[in-house]
Amino acid sequence: MNILVINCGSSSLKFQLIDSNTEECKASGLCERIGMDESCITYKPANGEKEKKVSPMPDHKEAIRLVIEALTNEKTGALKSLSEIDAVGHRLVHGGEKFNKSVIINDEVIKAVEECNDLAPLHNPANIIGINACKALMPNVPMVGVFDTAIHQTMPAKAYLYGTPYEYYEKYGVRKYGFHGSSHSFVSKRAAELVGKSYEDCKTIVCHLGNGSSICAVENGKSVDTSMGLTPLEGLLMGTRSGDIDAGALEYIMKKENIDFKEMMTILNKKSGFLGVSGVSSDCRDVESAAADGNERAKAAMDVFFYRVAKTVGGYIAAMNGVDVIAFTAGIGENDKHTREEIMKYFGYMGIKIDAEKNSLRGEEVMISTPDSKVKVYVIPTNEELKIARETAALVK
Ligand code: ADP
Repeated sequence: MNILVINCGSSSLKFQLIDSNTEECKASGLCERIGMDESCITYKPANGEKEKKVSPMPDHKEAIRLVIEALTNEKTGALKSLSEIDAVGHRLVHGGEKFNKSVIINDEVIKAVEECNDLAPLHNPANIIGINACKALMPNVPMVGVFDTAIHQTMPAKAYLYGTPYEYYEKYGVRKYGFHGSSHSFVSKRAAELVGKSYEDCKTIVCHLGNGSSICAVENGKSVDTSMGLTPLEGLLMGTRSGDIDAGALEYIMKKENIDFKEMMTILNKKSGFLGVSGVSSDCRDVESAAADGNERAKAAMDVFFYRVAKTVGGYIAAMNGVDVIAFTAGIGENDKHTREEIMKYFGYMGIKIDAEKNSLRGEEVMISTPDSKVKVYVIPTNEELKIARETAALVK
């Protein structure tokens, strides 16, 4: 089956065409600056050159039309005609408590996703625009929604409840939801395979460390805790997000700086994290190289990052009363040996040992722990699009 995977943001749209039988990515690309000047589409067929073209895209429907045009282009297209698309898989960000698995999209589902808009006001409306644009251009092609939050619906109440008045949970759904579901699910399944255990009998900790970062504890095939919360702001130090902070500090900063809550949230989401602490960049590579050159703030940012990851992993080992495998994934997790080494140093007491040579490999699936390490540690490149294509094919079949 040819599955078109769509990840639709408010002004961008990423896509991949995946053959669900061979699991090969036949083409991929990105539409940027939708609804703005100089919008452009980048398209790359599996065995061809990447092409970038400026093309007006007043809305997402036009973006999808251009995606279809690129996919069916006579010379470079991966398909002969639109009729070869068997299904569309949409990445959907927030399914609240309504969705604990992927679903075939129908009008009822769209309505239920809309009801979660308050929980993800930037992402969910954009996801729905993407669904409607596909529906308008491919009315007879089945569509599936794969939620970032769904796998975490198995968390127990002790992990997802905040210490706020219970009525906020009851009335407004204020609780931890967690994100990066496709990645945590893809990587934890693969980790269980690699250590030769059944998914239903394996304790895994997935460290998804990218621009946005989260950690997930997967016990016996179920997410039992994760570091992001009601929103993706909770937890680790990220590229521009603060992660955990004492809520009392917000009032203090707002008074001192004479700023309102909206500005405070912009600071926590866009001006904090690596960028805010180091003052150098939101990109881990820049911060690390500044730290290596002796920049103290950059070093502090990296240290906070390593320490928080280690504390969270340690907490999840306690939560599961053990761990069989720890997996690193995403931009930093897959590529940065120094980060992996620094984090794993905290676990020497547990008998975790890292093989320096294996750990220096980049971006490939590899066991980086030594054969006598008490817990196996892997780098597993994530593939969220493939996960979405698999879920889509399974439901459409
Ligand atoms: P997103 O959350 O946007 O999907 P990614 O998973 O692509 O992010 O991760 C982006 C992060 O990965 C950036 O901070 C970048 O610095 C980091 N990164 C990519 N390559 C390397 C590398 N070789 N060494 C260290 N960090 C890297």
